[in-house]
Amino acid sequence: MIPELSNPSVYMKNPHRVQETLQSMMKAGSNTVQVISDFDMTLTRFAYNGKRCPTCHNILDNSKLISDDCKQQLKDLLNTYYPIEIDTSRPVDEKLPLMVQWWTKAHELLVEQKIRKDLLAVVVKESDAMLREGYQLFFDHLHEHSIPLLIFSAGIGDILEEVIRQAGVFHSNVKVFSNYMDFDESGVLKAFKGELIHIYNKREGALLNTGHFQELRTRPNVLLLGDSLGDLTMADGVQDMENILKIGFLNDKVEERKQSYLDSYDVVLVKDETLEVPNAILHYLT
Ligand code: C5P
Ligand code: MG
Repeated sequence: MIPELSNPSVYMKNPHRVQETLQSMMKAGSNTVQVISDFDMTLTRFAYNGKRCPTCHNILDNSKLISDDCKQQLKDLLNTYYPIEIDTSRPVDEKLPLMVQWWTKAHELLVEQKIRKDLLAVVVKESDAMLREGYQLFFDHLHEHSIPLLIFSAGIGDILEEVIRQAGVFHSNVKVFSNYMDFDESGVLKAFKGELIHIYNKREGALLNTGHFQELRTRPNVLLLGDSLGDLTMADGVQDMENILKIGFLNDKVEERKQSYLDSYDVVLVKDETLEVPNAILHYLT
């Protein structure tokens, strides 16, 4: 049906169900579809030439806007909490308060650095941020077919917007839910706005945004893209959902995590740095 689903990076627990879901979504038509995607390590690359690519937070952490001392503290936080984030032996309820600690401590450190709003674009330009191969086709195709794309990120909204703006793909069909910076009247970071979005509360984030999902109520067919098990709840706000196809990128700790990804995502893409499979699915649906 879709040749790319036979790529060596593709794993499916129930290929028959994937086929049925896709057929049903295709028959309903692309005007009934919406796409909900995570950002870091889903729309952006996990690694390039064997080197890790930065998350939104890392773009700032590694930038010239941060003092050496603070850089070290942010790196220590990453080395402490990232292994917990991807540890499958700990239950989510045990990891959740630790993730809140990570985000809270990192945001406090960033606020101490008196980051200037007008330098964010420069820092993104100078960073190693990289969208996955095929991103242009992905964003342009959704735009051409007027399919709404919600980017739902526990990263930093100001940074992710700048990444997609500089890549020339921040089209009018794109909406972002994320953590946004709050600047004082002189343009210096003073806090983060609103409720914190971290890796395990996307469900709550979705339920706070009922207005968005209300507007999209004529689109009950959802394509969800994520890289963490926390991303599975991003569509919890969708009204009267008919079909959902969940595509999960498994980037790290593949052997330990493969079974849990197969149990929760319909299509699992193992160490696949491209958007080839999502693009092929979109092509089929439109
Ligand atoms: O779910 P999403 O991809 O939007 O989450 C953001 C990512 O940012 C997490 O996977 C986490 O590893 C990373 N992160 C980070 N630095 C922080 C907090 C989170 O790199 N201070
Ligand atoms: Mg992610």
